[in-house]
Amino acid sequence: MGKMSSKKIYLSPPHLSGYELNFITDALKSNWVAPLGPNVDGFENELADYLGIRNAAALSSGTAAIHLALILSGVKEGDTVFCSTLTFVASANPILYEKARPVFIDSDRESWNMCPQALERALTEAYHIGRLPKAVIVVNLYGQMAKMEEITYLCHKFRVPLIEDAAESLGSTYNMRPGGTFGSFGVFSFNGNKIITTSGGGMLTSNSTSAINKARFLATQSKDQALHYQHSEVGFNYRMSNLSAGVGRAQLLVLNERVKAKRAVFNKYYNELAEVPGIEFMPELAGTMSNRWLTALTVNEKQAGFSNLTLLKSLAKENIEARPVWKPLHLQPLFEGADYYPHSKDLSVSEELFNSGICLPSGTNMSDEDQQRVIDCIKSHVQVKAV
Ligand SMILES: *Cc1c(COP(=O)(O)O)cnc(C)c1O
Repeated sequence: MGKMSSKKIYLSPPHLSGYELNFITDALKSNWVAPLGPNVDGFENELADYLGIRNAAALSSGTAAIHLALILSGVKEGDTVFCSTLTFVASANPILYEKARPVFIDSDRESWNMCPQALERALTEAYHIGRLPKAVIVVNLYGQMAKMEEITYLCHKFRVPLIEDAAESLGSTYNMRPGGTFGSFGVFSFNGNKIITTSGGGMLTSNSTSAINKARFLATQSKDQALHYQHSEVGFNYRMSNLSAGVGRAQLLVLNERVKAKRAVFNKYYNELAEVPGIEFMPELAGTMSNRWLTALTVNEKQAGFSNLTLLKSLAKENIEARPVWKPLHLQPLFEGADYYPHSKDLSVSEELFNSGICLPSGTNMSDEDQQRVIDCIKSHVQVKAV
């Protein structure tokens, strides 16, 4: 029964902590409304402390953070950059900003993230033709950590800087170490749908103080140290406003609670649906803790008797926002002609996940009753088999 009168359930809406107004009011009262100020400094320091990393630069978006990470890694026109294929387009768009060439790397089934074997093949081939990439962008999809031990080993071996796109994985850990701290650079996003938000913003992190100082310089129009306005290289307007940073500080206070809540949402789905034939939940890699930003699962149509697309349609009819898994970037018209390294000769895991995957509403402010509505809608597809 499609009750369009029922309240819309969103995929991952913002969830305020209640402290935002304090930070914003302070900023307004002290006239710190520019893209610099105490909240920007505070948010940078507090996020760096949370991650246990030396430096953080607050930026206008996660995309801006990826862009600056590429520039700081020395990416220039015509260079290649490797990138996870199963991700949001923002992971790779900045490669095009610099007129570099993306090469996409497939996922594996255990992590849904960059497959180390495919990465090794790609790096080995690139090495032999003398065209090693200037950077590797690894994504932690839906909060799940990639196989960092294998991936950092390969990047060290071939001496290629690693950029960790942790936009979806703030609060996740790998061997107890926070996600986003494995590469030369970590990238975070505080877009409205992320686990915490600034209403829009991002952060670039690194243990290299000089790199983060350079990032702040590039992000403020590359203004030289001079009394007059002097510029020697191209710059950007990429800094975060002191108001947004105030929202971020208030949100960071409840990050650990949000991780717990996301994981509780996942567990409820899992307990109710794991037994359904043909449904398989996104795994959690051994030794890691995912923030479970979005609960994702795959539907094997033959075993289930329905497909992921059928589910998407009937959830939409019930006013429930669900989404397919990201369309792999090597299949996007935007990146037509880009090289792609699948998991193995006859297996493209990202395509498999795209064709069968679905993300369920995962808001930390979703009520039990609302989540039950989602579960009931999915269960209504399950055929009761006669004994
Ligand atoms: C959201 C997201 C980004 C981009 O972040 P913005 O702040 O929206 O620019 C980058 N990569 C991934 C994987 C994301 O999910």
